[in-house]
Amino acid sequence: MQYQVLIVGGGSGGITAAARLRRADPRLSVAVIEPNDKHYYQPFWTLVGGGIVPKEASERPEASVMPRGVTWIRNRVAALEPDRNAVRLATGERVTYEQLIVAPGLQLDWHKVKGLPEALGKDGVCSIYDYRQAERTWEMIRGFQGGQAVFTSPATPVKCGGAPQKIMFLAEETFEQNGVRGRSRVDYYTGGAVIFGVKEIAAALEKVKERKGLDYHYKHDLREVRPQSREAVFCRTTDEGMREVVVKYDLLHVTPPMSAPDFVKESPLALQEGPLKGWMAVDHGTLQSTVYPNVFGLGDVIGTPNAKTGAAIRKQAPTVVENLLAYRRQASLPKTYDGYGSCPLVTGRGKLILAEFNYKNEMTPSFPFDQAKERHDMYLLKRHGLPFLYWNLMLRGLA
Ligand SMILES: Cc1cc2nc3c(=O)[nH]c(=O)nc-3n(C[C@H](O)[C@H](O)[C@H](O)COP(=O)(O)OP(=O)(O)OC[C@H]3O[C@@H](n4cnc5c(N)ncnc54)[C@H](O)[C@@H]3O)c2cc1C
Repeated sequence: MQYQVLIVGGGSGGITAAARLRRADPRLSVAVIEPNDKHYYQPFWTLVGGGIVPKEASERPEASVMPRGVTWIRNRVAALEPDRNAVRLATGERVTYEQLIVAPGLQLDWHKVKGLPEALGKDGVCSIYDYRQAERTWEMIRGFQGGQAVFTSPATPVKCGGAPQKIMFLAEETFEQNGVRGRSRVDYYTGGAVIFGVKEIAAALEKVKERKGLDYHYKHDLREVRPQSREAVFCRTTDEGMREVVVKYDLLHVTPPMSAPDFVKESPLALQEGPLKGWMAVDHGTLQSTVYPNVFGLGDVIGTPNAKTGAAIRKQAPTVVENLLAYRRQASLPKTYDGYGSCPLVTGRGKLILAEFNYKNEMTPSFPFDQAKERHDMYLLKRHGLPFLYWNLMLRGLA
């Protein structure tokens, strides 16, 4: 099997790029390798965990989003072989290409927290970072009878860095409405060192934190879950070194550690050193592989210091597609990605702070008002506007 452009992954990035390529040049042979027959709008999982939308609203058949004229290879990539301009499939065949777009998302490393895979979904341990677990999360939040609620965020890069706090805000509001807030503590343990990377948004979140009476603990990385004793074990980084901190919980919402998919880490396309080791090495502006010029990276997999979001992909995909087409013409690469990412920070039912920013953590607002404030219209954008934009415009290569 040989294609002019081969795309690994039929998620947000892969489908958006495929649609844009076909629109730009309908004669181009394009194939997408994607094993899953379902496509997910993952930003809804926060709202599933908050009891606002059913999980089914986030799911559509992959066939319904595959652009016409694009070949769908229903298989899994086992290895990238850029020296041969080929990828090897799980079933052993090779697919060759002229240009490759690598867009397989990231890997959730549940197993890196001891005891977590067994504990997840039972006895108060939940996570919105999975389609089914998002629904379980709401069952646990709704049924919470008071006590210690703990929300975590790891020290690794994560997709939608705001989601671990958003689900806590929604949970806290639910506890209040259910009359159990008065007999509860709500704590946030994060491997990070700040509430949010953008200073204007950080200031706004500080106010939300104060209003809701939440306690934040920085540089705490979850290492173990002990479901029998209902204990979460964190590694705390201090100036003096590492220290173990054991915290009791009645409800534990976990954001797992994340990394590039293993087949990317093991390939010559991965960064070989530095803090982003294992993520795909691309030029931060053109998104071209720094090792193989006929390869481009897109979405959560790339080792760039932007927020890993679908919103970032909306800006990255035109960059990748225009640059790839220019490369085919042997022209210089015309387009530069500025690190745009967006995080619609739901602070409660009907309230949202729309954070939009670039590589430099500078605000890049789309609307002519102070976006660092909680607003109802921005909540409606998240609940209704952005999903419409995603399914009808972005995945069709129109936005
Ligand atoms: C809880 C949650 C909340 C979020 N909230 C927001 C938000 O509010 N706003 C926002 O913009 N973004 C949000 N995101 C992030 C957004 O969903 C992701 O950044 C986006 O989906 C990444 O797109 P991608 O194409 O890189 O990866 P994905 O969309 O995850 O797609 C990757 C695809 O690659 C496939 N794949 C994996 N391995 C292989 C393989 N070996 N071979 C072939 N195919 C493979 C997968 O099956 C998958 O279909 C959220 C995510 C989560 C989980």
